[in-house]
Amino acid sequence: MDKVFSVIDGQQEAMIDFQTRLTAIQALSPENGGKGELARARWIQSWLDQHNFPPVEYINAPDPRADEQIRPNMILRVPGENRSKTVWVMAHLDTVPPGDLKLWESDPYKVIVKEGKIIGRGVEDNQQGILCPIFALRALMECKIPLAYDVGIMLVADEETGSHYGIDYVLSQKKDLVRSDDLVIVPDAGNPDGSTIEVAEKSILWCRFAISGKQVHASTPHQGINAHRAAARLAVILDEELHRAFSAKDSMFDPPESTFEPTKHDANVENINTIPGEEIFYFDCRVLPQYSLSAVEELIKKAMARVEKDTGVKIEVTYPNRAEAAPPTSPDSEVVKILSRAIKMVKGVDAQPIGIGGGTVAALFRRRGIPAAVWSTIDDMAHAPNEYCKIKNLLSDTKVFAAVFSGKDL
Ligand SMILES: [Zn+2]
Repeated sequence: MDKVFSVIDGQQEAMIDFQTRLTAIQALSPENGGKGELARARWIQSWLDQHNFPPVEYINAPDPRADEQIRPNMILRVPGENRSKTVWVMAHLDTVPPGDLKLWESDPYKVIVKEGKIIGRGVEDNQQGILCPIFALRALMECKIPLAYDVGIMLVADEETGSHYGIDYVLSQKKDLVRSDDLVIVPDAGNPDGSTIEVAEKSILWCRFAISGKQVHASTPHQGINAHRAAARLAVILDEELHRAFSAKDSMFDPPESTFEPTKHDANVENINTIPGEEIFYFDCRVLPQYSLSAVEELIKKAMARVEKDTGVKIEVTYPNRAEAAPPTSPDSEVVKILSRAIKMVKGVDAQPIGIGGGTVAALFRRRGIPAAVWSTIDDMAHAPNEYCKIKNLLSDTKVFAAVFSGKDL
């Protein structure tokens, strides 16, 4: 692999150019005020053509709001020596808007290179994930090193606003594209030394509690029903009982236990001497995958009924976000093993399988019984102002993909 690695080291300027061009082509979803990803997909296509890649298959999702009414999903496949399975890498074409421009030290769409960092909107999330597997393939092709298995690179639309026109669309249109014995790597989260491989996530349950009592003057509480007091009581009961009932720990996660946090609270009355008749507050729950969300909801309903009985209020609960965790990818699965060995070889670190608080696209694969690992080497600048990626991480992650694809010395 030494020859491949030195070819990759020689690609530094080409990588900076690739990042610069991609960053200049905005790829905002219509929800974020943009026209989608088509212009960016076209530029990538021309780059692939210039560098003699095989033809790309498109699974375009129709979207009347987008350029040419298309949300592009690109599938690049290169055959390997063993054609029984495919190593997939999925990255997303879309980026989020720059946010408050005052917080940027440079134009977010004009890349600058400073102290080993490439700075611009999207360079980390998810252009690093697009670049590394493509440059890995390019280096292997140049050195005429065969791939161990088929390699598939999916560049998908709409990851930042729900994946409805992206990977969700691809997997529902082409049910046999990715199979349960394939390996899936999603380079869209990670840590600064590339030592974490995300294989599991917690379920997410956001709860909105609306408490209705009766508003009166604060000097005559007996004539009203204080919605604030009932809300406070409910919050305390939920806090205590949810933690007690769902107390298991799993050391793969940080924190290792389920979390139940009272968060937002809507404004109620404007003056201190009014007893509020309406009260709205929220909980953010992240639940270990061993528990079902319906068990959590059951406990919540019982606590609500008790507070209603004790105080005379009416309580309604809705769930603005409810996502049952996908079954975890086994830490012993082939994708984790191959990736770990490549990371050890290139970076010299022992990677750890971890779980996170919820909400990665890898869940879409895991729900279909396909093992998926989320990995990259990043400082976690996604969505932040002055987003950057480190050039040394582009080089090392490209080498890791080259090692994974070739299967050499693993
Ligand atoms: Zn991302």
